[in-house]
Amino acid sequence: VRGVDLLRDPLLNKDMGFSLQERQLLGIHGLLPPIMLSQEEQVYAVMQNFYRWDNDLDRYIYLMSLQDRNEKLFYKVVTENVELMMPIIYTPTVGQACLKYGLIYRKPRGLYISINDKGHVFDILCNWPAEDVKAIVVTDGERILGLGDLGCFGMGIPVGKLSLYTALAGVQPAQCLPIMLDVGTNNAKILTDPLYIGLRQKRETGQAYDEFIDEFMTAVVKRYGRDTLVQFEDFGNHNAFKLLEKYRDRYCVFNDDIQGTAAVAVAGIMASLKITGKPLSENTFVFQGAGEASIGIAKLLLMAMKESGMSESEALRKIWMVDSKGLIVKNRPSGGVTGQKVLFAQDHAPIDKLEQVVKQIKPTCIIGAAAQPGAFTEQILIDMATINDRPIIFALSNPTSKAECTAEQAYKFTKGRCVFASGSPFRPVTYENKVFHPGQGNNAYVFPAVGLATILCDIRTITEEVFLESAKALASMVTKKDMEEGRVYPPLSQIREVSTRMTVHLLDFAYKKGLALHYPEPSNKNSFVRAQQYSTEYLSYVPEIYEWPQFCSRI
Ligand code: NAP
Ligand code: MN
Repeated sequence: VRGVDLLRDPLLNKDMGFSLQERQLLGIHGLLPPIMLSQEEQVYAVMQNFYRWDNDLDRYIYLMSLQDRNEKLFYKVVTENVELMMPIIYTPTVGQACLKYGLIYRKPRGLYISINDKGHVFDILCNWPAEDVKAIVVTDGERILGLGDLGCFGMGIPVGKLSLYTALAGVQPAQCLPIMLDVGTNNAKILTDPLYIGLRQKRETGQAYDEFIDEFMTAVVKRYGRDTLVQFEDFGNHNAFKLLEKYRDRYCVFNDDIQGTAAVAVAGIMASLKITGKPLSENTFVFQGAGEASIGIAKLLLMAMKESGMSESEALRKIWMVDSKGLIVKNRPSGGVTGQKVLFAQDHAPIDKLEQVVKQIKPTCIIGAAAQPGAFTEQILIDMATINDRPIIFALSNPTSKAECTAEQAYKFTKGRCVFASGSPFRPVTYENKVFHPGQGNNAYVFPAVGLATILCDIRTITEEVFLESAKALASMVTKKDMEEGRVYPPLSQIREVSTRMTVHLLDFAYKKGLALHYPEPSNKNSFVRAQQYSTEYLSYVPEIYEWPQFCSRI
């Protein structure tokens, strides 16, 4: 590469971090201001800019432009300030960004493949300049966070998720590829938005859709190999379950909304039980919502319950679900008990309202994942605190505007007795002079580590056990001190170390279970993982100069 190309390549650029020697040797002297800055000084400059903005969407735009210019600096800033930056590059701000993705569009990032490209998907994959892609996050934009169908605007999600692969687990950015499969959108508002960046057509469905996704999967394997990890993200409910079932044994895939959510939520439940002191078998769970998140959590919970010695039917009696038509019971007059919900249909009279469900079923734990803000009403929270000494309240819907209740409401209406976690972050709450730290039950605790582990030990099929194991590993990392502060997850500030340790743990597990195909098995997995992780330190571009014996030279 020519020197000037280094300046333009975000993976290699150091901005004013190029030394005088480098500038001279590479022929870029004079193309930068004369000052040479250390990376620490550059971080300082970035932080000054970050604080200058008075709203998070502008901070998002600023950080994305930094990522487009200088990735090492971007990741250094993010990893050193995870708690501050994660809500910007990920939920909740990424949600705002997706809603306005056309407006804030600056530079393309990721690969756009549209239904019009059917028959040519492989060719488009070949246009992606990186040769060694190991992890793809793909969406069709139908269910972006809890915001619904955002079509092509949903690209912000794969971009954000993969940023976390690198920032939290240390996956090499050059190995990550965000992909938008644009099959149209049914969002009328977006279709008429003059700034919309996607196909202005209704969603393609049925056979044409299925063939398109099939072609995509085949093309990925042809271009990047059978060991390429494909994370499905924010697909609509029906496609999410269907595609997972179809591909889970044939390709290296997982669906983060179903399986990643499940692992994080079950980890939170396991940690909560250490606080409430009740064994799993003595708990009753009520889910608000029976979609990707809730079904995923319920199924993993079922697995955990069975592993703890309960029979399937015993365990199922402890899991209750409410969807848009009320409590899910057998022969429900309002109907709608099909597909994944059938397993969880109870022998019980129908109940319409969540408040009544809570009163009658008397759960120890309620989990919200229906994107219905305010669903956990004051009455429900009060009742939960009447039924239980320590009620468990998980308001998992994202972004913050969709949460079932706020952290403050949860602590206030349960008189500070609840164990609370949410999907998007809430600030600490002070109730009667005690400070509570709400846990953020966010997938980010799990998917980056699953991704890195899969890449490093060459897992080809990601089984359900991998997610149960992730849940256990995550729960085991919640310390006594964390729990005293009301946390059911390790503090976000430690998420990088948590991800690394989880990766090491998953590697161990994968080799034990015969899931890992990378041989020889690393003898020290801890140092192996750490050695493979992306470093945010700049590399020197000055080649090492050394001498040969004198007699070799004629000059
Ligand atoms: P989904 O598959 O579309 O499911 C939504 C579910 O909510 C459906 O079962 C739907 O009922 C139900 N629902 C809708 N209105 C309802 C109402 N008024 N009362 C009760 N249930 C109602 O979506 P999802 O993937 O599960 O995601 C749902 C939410 O969870 C989103 O906000 C998402 O951001 C959040 N989530 C959070 C995390 C996390 O990390 N914390 C992870 C994944 C998802 P029907 O089945 O009857 O239509
Ligand atoms: Mn998602």
